[in-house]
Amino acid sequence: MIIHSKLPDVGTTIFTTMSQLAVEHKAINLGQGFPDYAMSEELIDLATEAMRKGFNQYPHTNGNPLLRQRLADKVNKLYNANVVGDTQVTITVGGTYAIYTAFTTILEPGDEVIVFEPAFDSYLPNIEVNGAIAVGIKLQYPTFSIPWDEVRAKVSPKTKAIIINTPQNPSGAVLSEDDINELRRVVEGTNIFIISDEVYEHLIYDGKQHQSILRYPDLAARSFACFSFGKTYHCTGWKMGYCIASPQLTAEFRKVHQFNAFCCNAPIQAALAEYLLNENAYLGLSNFFQQKRDYFQGLMGHTGFKALPSYGSYFQCYSFAGITDEADKDFAIRLTKEKGVAAIPLSSFYKDGTDNKVLRFCFGKKEETLKEAVDRLLR
Ligand code: PMP
Repeated sequence: MIIHSKLPDVGTTIFTTMSQLAVEHKAINLGQGFPDYAMSEELIDLATEAMRKGFNQYPHTNGNPLLRQRLADKVNKLYNANVVGDTQVTITVGGTYAIYTAFTTILEPGDEVIVFEPAFDSYLPNIEVNGAIAVGIKLQYPTFSIPWDEVRAKVSPKTKAIIINTPQNPSGAVLSEDDINELRRVVEGTNIFIISDEVYEHLIYDGKQHQSILRYPDLAARSFACFSFGKTYHCTGWKMGYCIASPQLTAEFRKVHQFNAFCCNAPIQAALAEYLLNENAYLGLSNFFQQKRDYFQGLMGHTGFKALPSYGSYFQCYSFAGITDEADKDFAIRLTKEKGVAAIPLSSFYKDGTDNKVLRFCFGKKEETLKEAVDRLLR
Protein backbone atom coordinates (compact mmCIF):
# COMPACT_ATOMS: atom_id res chain seq x y z
CA MET A 1 0.00 0.00 0.00
CA ILE A 2 1.16 3.52 -0.69
CA ILE A 3 0.38 6.05 1.98
CA HIS A 4 1.08 9.73 1.60
CA SER A 5 1.98 10.77 5.11
CA LYS A 6 0.10 13.85 6.28
CA LEU A 7 2.81 14.29 8.90
CA PRO A 8 6.05 13.24 7.16
CA ASP A 9 8.30 14.94 9.72
CA VAL A 10 6.68 13.51 12.82
CA GLY A 11 8.38 10.72 14.75
CA THR A 12 7.95 9.49 18.30
CA THR A 13 7.55 12.37 20.76
CA ILE A 14 10.51 13.23 22.94
CA PHE A 15 8.35 12.54 26.02
CA THR A 16 7.86 8.91 25.02
CA THR A 17 11.52 8.54 24.08
CA MET A 18 12.81 10.00 27.34
CA SER A 19 10.25 8.15 29.46
CA GLN A 20 11.25 4.83 27.83
CA LEU A 21 14.92 5.61 28.39
CA ALA A 22 14.11 6.49 32.01
CA VAL A 23 12.46 3.09 32.54
CA GLU A 24 15.35 1.25 30.84
CA HIS A 25 17.93 2.95 33.04
CA LYS A 26 15.80 3.06 36.21
CA ALA A 27 16.14 6.83 36.10
CA ILE A 28 13.99 9.28 38.05
CA ASN A 29 11.68 10.75 35.45
CA LEU A 30 11.58 14.53 35.78
CA GLY A 31 11.00 14.70 32.04
CA GLN A 32 7.33 14.09 31.36
CA GLY A 33 4.87 16.29 33.24
CA PHE A 34 2.85 14.06 35.53
CA PRO A 35 2.61 13.78 39.33
CA ASP A 36 4.09 10.74 41.11
CA TYR A 37 1.87 11.22 44.19
CA ALA A 38 -1.71 10.11 44.77
CA MET A 39 -4.65 12.13 43.51
CA SER A 40 -7.60 13.00 45.76
CA GLU A 41 -9.30 9.98 47.41
CA GLU A 42 -12.51 12.02 47.49
CA LEU A 43 -12.51 12.39 43.72
CA ILE A 44 -11.75 8.68 43.25
CA ASP A 45 -14.70 7.87 45.53
CA LEU A 46 -16.96 10.23 43.56
CA ALA A 47 -15.98 8.47 40.31
CA THR A 48 -16.67 5.03 41.82
CA GLU A 49 -19.97 6.25 43.20
CA ALA A 50 -20.94 7.68 39.80
CA MET A 51 -20.38 4.27 38.19
CA ARG A 52 -22.51 2.61 40.90
CA LYS A 53 -25.22 5.21 40.37
CA GLY A 54 -25.41 4.23 36.71
CA PHE A 55 -23.51 6.95 34.87
CA ASN A 56 -22.20 4.31 32.49
CA GLN A 57 -23.82 4.98 29.12
CA TYR A 58 -23.14 7.67 26.49
CA PRO A 59 -23.55 11.07 28.10
CA HIS A 60 -24.58 14.16 26.15
CA THR A 61 -22.23 14.85 23.24
CA ASN A 62 -21.44 18.34 24.62
CA GLY A 63 -20.80 16.97 28.11
CA ASN A 64 -22.65 16.46 31.38
CA PRO A 65 -24.95 19.52 31.70
CA LEU A 66 -24.30 20.00 35.43
CA LEU A 67 -20.53 19.87 34.88
CA ARG A 68 -20.76 22.43 32.09
CA GLN A 69 -22.89 24.72 34.24
CA ARG A 70 -20.47 24.47 37.17
CA LEU A 71 -17.51 25.17 34.90
CA ALA A 72 -19.28 28.26 33.62
CA ASP A 73 -19.96 29.34 37.23
CA LYS A 74 -16.29 28.78 38.04
CA VAL A 75 -14.84 30.88 35.22
CA ASN A 76 -17.49 33.55 35.64
CA LYS A 77 -16.41 33.96 39.26
CA LEU A 78 -12.65 33.64 38.72
CA TYR A 79 -12.34 35.64 35.51
CA ASN A 80 -15.35 37.91 35.77
CA ALA A 81 -16.66 36.33 32.57
CA ASN A 82 -20.18 35.79 31.32
CA VAL A 83 -20.06 32.22 30.04
CA VAL A 84 -23.19 30.07 29.59
CA GLY A 85 -22.58 26.36 30.19
CA ASP A 86 -25.13 25.11 27.71
CA THR A 87 -23.94 27.01 24.65
CA GLN A 88 -20.29 27.74 25.42
CA VAL A 89 -18.69 24.86 27.33
CA THR A 90 -17.83 21.55 25.66
CA ILE A 91 -16.23 18.67 27.56
CA THR A 92 -13.33 17.10 25.68
CA VAL A 93 -10.84 14.25 25.82
CA GLY A 94 -8.20 16.33 27.58
CA GLY A 95 -6.80 19.72 26.71
CA THR A 96 -4.93 18.38 23.67
CA TYR A 97 -8.14 17.23 22.03
CA ALA A 98 -9.76 20.61 22.75
CA ILE A 99 -6.85 22.36 21.00
CA TYR A 100 -6.86 19.93 18.07
CA THR A 101 -10.62 20.29 17.64
CA ALA A 102 -10.36 24.09 17.74
CA PHE A 103 -7.69 24.04 15.02
CA THR A 104 -9.69 21.60 12.91
CA THR A 105 -12.79 23.77 13.31
CA ILE A 106 -11.16 26.87 11.80
CA LEU A 107 -8.19 25.86 9.64
CA GLU A 108 -8.24 25.51 5.88
CA PRO A 109 -5.32 24.45 3.66
CA GLY A 110 -2.78 27.25 3.28
CA ASP A 111 -3.85 29.14 6.41
CA GLU A 112 -1.09 30.38 8.68
CA VAL A 113 -1.00 30.04 12.45
CA ILE A 114 1.41 31.98 14.63
CA VAL A 115 3.08 29.71 17.18
CA PHE A 116 5.50 30.81 19.89
CA GLU A 117 8.52 28.59 20.35
CA PRO A 118 9.56 26.71 22.40
CA ALA A 119 6.04 25.29 21.93
CA PHE A 120 4.10 22.38 23.38
CA ASP A 121 4.71 19.56 20.94
CA SER A 122 1.16 18.92 19.70
CA TYR A 123 0.61 22.36 18.17
CA LEU A 124 2.66 21.97 14.98
CA PRO A 125 1.32 18.56 13.93
CA ASN A 126 -2.23 19.75 14.77
CA ILE A 127 -1.76 22.64 12.37
CA GLU A 128 0.01 20.67 9.65
CA VAL A 129 -2.44 17.76 9.60
CA ASN A 130 -5.06 20.36 8.69
CA GLY A 131 -2.97 21.49 5.70
CA ALA A 132 -2.12 24.78 7.40
CA ILE A 133 1.28 26.34 8.02
CA ALA A 134 2.84 27.04 11.41
CA VAL A 135 4.66 30.38 11.48
CA GLY A 136 7.11 30.05 14.34
CA ILE A 137 8.20 33.02 16.45
CA LYS A 138 10.90 32.43 19.03
CA LEU A 139 10.27 33.70 22.55
CA GLN A 140 13.12 35.91 23.73
CA TYR A 141 15.78 33.95 25.57
CA PRO A 142 16.14 33.66 28.56
CA THR A 143 12.96 35.48 29.70
CA PHE A 144 10.76 33.69 27.14
CA SER A 145 8.78 36.88 26.54
CA ILE A 146 6.92 37.53 23.28
CA PRO A 147 8.71 39.78 20.76
CA TRP A 148 5.61 41.75 19.73
CA ASP A 149 7.37 43.65 16.92
CA GLU A 150 8.10 40.36 15.25
CA VAL A 151 4.49 39.25 15.72
CA ARG A 152 3.30 42.41 13.94
CA ALA A 153 5.80 41.77 11.16
CA LYS A 154 4.70 38.16 10.68
CA VAL A 155 0.94 38.72 10.62
CA SER A 156 -0.24 38.39 7.02
CA PRO A 157 -3.58 38.18 5.20
CA LYS A 158 -3.18 34.40 5.55
CA THR A 159 -2.93 34.49 9.35
CA LYS A 160 -5.94 32.53 10.58
CA ALA A 161 -5.00 32.14 14.22
CA ILE A 162 -2.52 32.80 17.00
CA ILE A 163 -2.00 30.19 19.69
CA ILE A 164 -1.03 31.45 23.13
CA ASN A 165 -0.18 29.38 26.19
CA THR A 166 -0.08 30.87 29.67
CA PRO A 167 1.40 29.67 31.99
CA GLN A 168 3.66 28.31 29.30
CA ASN A 169 5.00 24.83 28.79
CA PRO A 170 8.00 24.37 28.59
CA SER A 171 9.30 27.72 29.85
CA GLY A 172 7.09 28.50 32.85
CA ALA A 173 6.64 32.04 31.49
CA VAL A 174 3.29 33.78 32.05
CA LEU A 175 1.64 36.49 29.98
CA SER A 176 1.05 39.90 31.56
CA GLU A 177 -1.77 42.37 31.02
CA ASP A 178 0.62 44.31 28.75
CA ASP A 179 0.99 41.20 26.59
CA ILE A 180 -2.79 40.94 26.34
CA ASN A 181 -2.97 44.58 25.26
CA GLU A 182 -0.32 43.93 22.61
CA LEU A 183 -2.30 40.92 21.43
CA ARG A 184 -5.42 43.06 21.24
CA ARG A 185 -3.64 45.60 19.03
CA VAL A 186 -2.46 42.82 16.70
CA VAL A 187 -5.86 41.21 16.18
CA GLU A 188 -8.12 44.29 16.31
CA GLY A 189 -9.96 44.77 13.02
CA THR A 190 -8.80 41.37 11.67
CA ASN A 191 -10.48 37.97 11.46
CA ILE A 192 -7.71 36.25 13.43
CA PHE A 193 -8.79 33.60 15.94
CA ILE A 194 -7.04 33.00 19.24
CA ILE A 195 -6.48 29.56 20.68
CA SER A 196 -5.72 30.06 24.35
CA ASP A 197 -4.11 27.05 25.99
CA GLU A 198 -4.77 27.56 29.70
CA VAL A 199 -4.23 24.05 31.04
CA TYR A 200 -1.92 25.44 33.78
CA GLU A 201 -4.34 28.22 34.83
CA HIS A 202 -4.03 27.34 38.54
CA LEU A 203 -0.29 26.66 38.56
CA ILE A 204 0.92 30.23 38.85
CA TYR A 205 3.37 31.68 41.39
CA ASP A 206 4.85 34.70 43.09
CA GLY A 207 1.47 36.44 43.28
CA LYS A 208 1.06 36.65 39.48
CA GLN A 209 -2.49 36.73 38.13
CA HIS A 210 -3.54 34.26 35.44
CA GLN A 211 -4.40 36.21 32.31
CA SER A 212 -7.27 34.05 31.10
CA ILE A 213 -8.51 35.17 27.71
CA LEU A 214 -11.98 34.92 29.29
CA ARG A 215 -11.22 38.07 31.31
CA TYR A 216 -11.32 40.10 28.09
CA PRO A 217 -14.75 39.98 26.37
CA ASP A 218 -13.49 41.49 23.09
CA LEU A 219 -10.75 38.84 22.81
CA ALA A 220 -12.89 36.01 24.21
CA ALA A 221 -15.32 36.57 21.32
CA ARG A 222 -12.61 35.36 18.87
CA SER A 223 -11.11 32.68 21.14
CA PHE A 224 -11.21 29.01 21.96
CA ALA A 225 -10.03 28.71 25.58
CA CYS A 226 -8.76 25.20 26.31
CA PHE A 227 -8.44 23.64 29.78
CA SER A 228 -7.45 20.31 31.35
CA PHE A 229 -8.73 18.54 34.47
CA GLY A 230 -5.58 16.41 34.40
CA LYS A 231 -3.35 19.27 35.55
CA THR A 232 -5.82 20.68 38.06
CA TYR A 233 -6.71 17.43 39.80
CA HIS A 234 -3.42 15.52 39.47
CA CYS A 235 -4.97 12.92 37.16
CA THR A 236 -3.29 13.32 33.77
CA GLY A 237 -4.29 9.74 32.90
CA TRP A 238 -7.97 10.62 33.02
CA LYS A 239 -7.57 12.71 29.85
CA MET A 240 -10.42 15.08 30.52
CA GLY A 241 -10.63 18.72 29.52
CA TYR A 242 -12.95 21.34 28.06
CA CYS A 243 -13.18 24.17 25.61
CA ILE A 244 -14.94 27.49 26.23
CA ALA A 245 -15.85 29.67 23.25
CA SER A 246 -18.63 31.98 22.10
CA PRO A 247 -21.92 30.27 21.15
CA GLN A 248 -21.14 30.85 17.45
CA LEU A 249 -17.65 29.30 17.62
CA THR A 250 -18.85 26.55 19.96
CA ALA A 251 -21.53 25.49 17.48
CA GLU A 252 -18.83 24.90 14.82
CA PHE A 253 -16.47 23.26 17.33
CA ARG A 254 -19.20 20.80 18.29
CA LYS A 255 -19.73 19.78 14.66
CA VAL A 256 -16.15 18.50 14.59
CA HIS A 257 -16.32 17.00 18.08
CA GLN A 258 -19.61 15.22 17.41
CA PHE A 259 -18.06 13.05 14.71
CA ASN A 260 -14.78 12.44 16.45
CA ALA A 261 -15.02 11.45 20.14
CA PHE A 262 -18.76 12.27 20.12
CA CYS A 263 -18.72 12.32 23.95
CA CYS A 264 -16.42 11.77 26.92
CA ASN A 265 -16.26 9.43 29.90
CA ALA A 266 -19.62 9.60 31.71
CA PRO A 267 -18.81 8.63 35.33
CA ILE A 268 -15.76 10.87 35.44
CA GLN A 269 -17.83 13.82 34.28
CA ALA A 270 -20.44 13.17 36.96
CA ALA A 271 -17.69 12.96 39.58
CA LEU A 272 -16.03 16.17 38.40
CA ALA A 273 -19.36 18.02 38.53
CA GLU A 274 -19.55 17.25 42.28
CA TYR A 275 -15.87 17.85 42.97
CA LEU A 276 -15.98 21.28 41.34
CA LEU A 277 -17.95 22.51 44.38
CA ASN A 278 -14.72 22.14 46.37
CA GLU A 279 -13.02 25.45 45.52
CA ASN A 280 -10.03 24.74 47.73
CA ALA A 281 -9.05 21.85 45.49
CA TYR A 282 -8.04 24.31 42.77
CA LEU A 283 -7.46 27.55 44.67
CA GLY A 284 -4.80 25.84 46.80
CA LEU A 285 -2.74 24.71 43.82
CA SER A 286 -0.55 27.80 43.55
CA ASN A 287 0.72 27.33 47.10
CA PHE A 288 1.06 23.59 46.70
CA PHE A 289 3.19 23.80 43.56
CA GLN A 290 5.09 26.97 44.49
CA GLN A 291 6.43 25.09 47.53
CA LYS A 292 7.60 22.30 45.25
CA ARG A 293 9.19 24.77 42.84
CA ASP A 294 11.03 26.52 45.67
CA TYR A 295 12.12 23.24 47.22
CA PHE A 296 13.48 22.00 43.90
CA GLN A 297 15.18 25.32 43.17
CA GLY A 298 16.81 25.23 46.61
CA LEU A 299 18.23 21.76 45.97
CA MET A 300 19.33 22.55 42.41
CA GLY A 301 21.17 25.62 43.72
CA HIS A 302 23.91 23.21 44.86
CA THR A 303 24.48 21.91 41.32
CA GLY A 304 26.08 23.63 38.35
CA PHE A 305 22.68 24.13 36.69
CA LYS A 306 21.43 27.71 36.45
CA ALA A 307 17.70 28.28 36.98
CA LEU A 308 15.78 30.27 34.39
CA PRO A 309 12.71 32.08 35.76
CA SER A 310 9.56 29.97 36.13
CA TYR A 311 6.36 31.72 37.21
CA GLY A 312 3.91 29.01 36.30
CA SER A 313 3.24 25.41 35.16
CA TYR A 314 5.10 22.60 36.94
CA PHE A 315 8.19 23.01 34.83
CA GLN A 316 11.46 24.68 35.56
CA CYS A 317 14.09 25.20 32.90
CA TYR A 318 17.79 25.04 33.74
CA SER A 319 20.74 26.20 31.70
CA PHE A 320 23.65 23.78 31.67
CA ALA A 321 25.87 26.10 29.63
CA GLY A 322 28.25 26.33 32.61
CA ILE A 323 28.63 22.53 32.77
CA THR A 324 29.20 21.33 29.20
CA ASP A 325 28.81 22.42 25.60
CA GLU A 326 27.28 19.11 24.53
CA ALA A 327 24.09 19.21 22.45
CA ASP A 328 21.12 19.30 24.83
CA LYS A 329 19.73 15.99 23.53
CA ASP A 330 23.05 14.23 24.06
CA PHE A 331 23.37 15.70 27.52
CA ALA A 332 19.79 14.68 28.45
CA ILE A 333 20.48 11.10 27.30
CA ARG A 334 23.79 11.01 29.20
CA LEU A 335 22.15 12.31 32.39
CA THR A 336 19.52 9.59 32.13
CA LYS A 337 22.02 6.81 31.50
CA GLU A 338 24.88 7.89 33.76
CA LYS A 339 23.18 9.80 36.58
CA GLY A 340 19.73 8.22 36.50
CA VAL A 341 17.80 11.48 36.06
CA ALA A 342 15.62 12.15 33.01
CA ALA A 343 14.79 15.66 31.78
CA ILE A 344 13.61 17.05 28.44
CA PRO A 345 16.02 18.89 26.12
CA LEU A 346 14.49 22.24 25.18
CA SER A 347 15.58 21.97 21.53
CA SER A 348 12.79 19.44 21.02
CA PHE A 349 10.25 22.24 21.47
CA TYR A 350 11.65 24.16 18.47
CA LYS A 351 10.98 23.23 14.87
CA ASP A 352 14.57 24.13 13.92
CA GLY A 353 16.04 22.47 17.02
CA THR A 354 17.40 25.68 18.58
CA ASP A 355 19.77 24.57 21.32
CA ASN A 356 20.35 27.12 24.12
CA LYS A 357 21.80 24.40 26.38
CA VAL A 358 18.66 24.14 28.46
CA LEU A 359 16.81 21.21 30.02
CA ARG A 360 13.25 21.21 31.29
CA PHE A 361 12.57 19.54 34.64
CA CYS A 362 9.11 18.74 36.05
CA PHE A 363 8.89 19.57 39.76
CA GLY A 364 5.33 18.24 40.14
CA LYS A 365 6.70 15.30 42.12
CA LYS A 366 6.99 14.14 45.74
CA GLU A 367 9.70 15.96 47.72
CA GLU A 368 11.56 12.69 48.23
CA THR A 369 11.64 12.17 44.44
CA LEU A 370 13.02 15.67 43.87
CA LYS A 371 15.60 15.17 46.63
CA GLU A 372 16.76 11.81 45.28
CA ALA A 373 17.02 13.26 41.76
CA VAL A 374 19.23 16.13 42.87
CA ASP A 375 21.31 13.82 45.11
CA ARG A 376 21.96 11.73 42.02
CA LEU A 377 22.98 14.80 40.02
CA LEU A 378 25.38 15.82 42.78
CA ARG A 379 26.93 12.38 43.03
N1 PMP B 1 -1.25 22.02 26.64
C1 PMP B 1 -0.10 22.04 27.31
C2 PMP B 1 0.74 23.25 27.26
C3 PMP B 1 0.31 20.91 28.03
O1 PMP B 1 1.47 20.93 28.69
C4 PMP B 1 -0.51 19.77 28.04
C5 PMP B 1 -0.15 18.51 28.78
N2 PMP B 1 1.18 18.21 28.89
C6 PMP B 1 -1.71 19.81 27.34
C7 PMP B 1 -2.04 20.95 26.64
C8 PMP B 1 -2.60 18.62 27.26
O2 PMP B 1 -3.44 18.39 28.31
P1 PMP B 1 -4.22 17.02 28.40
O3 PMP B 1 -3.31 16.01 29.04
O4 PMP B 1 -5.42 17.34 29.22
O5 PMP B 1 -4.59 16.62 27.01
